[in-house]
Amino acid sequence: MLKAYRYRLVPNSEQEEFFIKTFGCVRKVYNLMLNDRIESFKRSQESGEKIKLPTPARYKKEFPFLKEVDSLALANAQLHLNKAYQQFFKRPAAGFPKWKSRKNPLQSYTTNNQNGTIAIVDGRYLKLPKMKPVRIKLHRHPRGMIKSATISQAASGKFYVSILCETDVQQKPKTGSIIGMDLGLTHMAVLSDSTKILNPKHLAKTAVKLAKAQRKLSHRAQVAKKQGRLLAESRNYQKQRIVVAKLHEKIAHQRNDYLHKRSTDLVNNHDVIFVESLNIQSMVRHRRWARSLHDVSWSSFLSKLTYKATWYGKQVIPIRRWFASSQICSVCGHQDGKKELHIREWSCPSCGVQHDRDVNASLNIRAAGLRLINLTNSL
Ligand SMILES: [Zn+2]
Repeated sequence: MLKAYRYRLVPNSEQEEFFIKTFGCVRKVYNLMLNDRIESFKRSQESGEKIKLPTPARYKKEFPFLKEVDSLALANAQLHLNKAYQQFFKRPAAGFPKWKSRKNPLQSYTTNNQNGTIAIVDGRYLKLPKMKPVRIKLHRHPRGMIKSATISQAASGKFYVSILCETDVQQKPKTGSIIGMDLGLTHMAVLSDSTKILNPKHLAKTAVKLAKAQRKLSHRAQVAKKQGRLLAESRNYQKQRIVVAKLHEKIAHQRNDYLHKRSTDLVNNHDVIFVESLNIQSMVRHRRWARSLHDVSWSSFLSKLTYKATWYGKQVIPIRRWFASSQICSVCGHQDGKKELHIREWSCPSCGVQHDRDVNASLNIRAAGLRLINLTNSL
């Protein structure tokens, strides 16, 4: 099983230069190979010549600086290009492989571990091929055998590494708990045991700061334009651009952290989680919802939950939303008709039970899940 760990890297100026140089070489090789593949394809159409697949090695003579960086990074560029082609062939709508641009705010390269060429040293440094160990902020130790490392630089200028490890599946102890989960807007999720998972509120705070910083940025862009200067040359604009990028990264980091914690709690405490499968696409189209959807990041939450369940021997089972989970009384099954979104509580006219809208819905999801399982077992 593969597991990725992400850390902040703090390179010195020499190392920073090496990283940036490697990003450049990876882009260069990727684009050269892409160009050669396109040309080779054209020739094959015109003259029936066989299509040749280029390798990074052939460019080293013409561009000797390619020899100065990690050759595995270049080899991985080749793999990435192959993958981009495969995806294009499988699903042409995904688009033809794109050129790598220097202007892309996210730059990266991937290298592989060969007998300890990538390792954590003294709990403070990361050993990487072709360079002295780089300072790493190790908030927790990666578990398992290191397979590869992807070094990246975000728009804020900060460097990160994602370390991919191969680790054994660690089964979590069984708790015997089976729950239903309703995803919502007032809360991120509500469980059939009445637990409510809150929307990450701290994101809203940072979002206000971000909106303010973005207004300032566009103001500075206007000022630069009035003075007839290029944005690239306007120092005030560039300073503010970094502020905005850092806030973006902070939000992404906070959200990710929160979703990790909540999904880990769930797989720790429950064996089977039934969740209503949502049509997220149609929800995003609903403009008023789009913003909170963005903040809540259900899809990211569900994907974390699903892969963790697989790691730890638990189950996440999607239940299709074909039934009116919020209209049916979870106690007696009476269907009480459509309820407006603002109605958070209601009592069943048939059996008199007082319902919390979301808890009732998650109880219905749980019941539907159990019916589905019994049905499958009896077949
Ligand atoms: Zn009832």
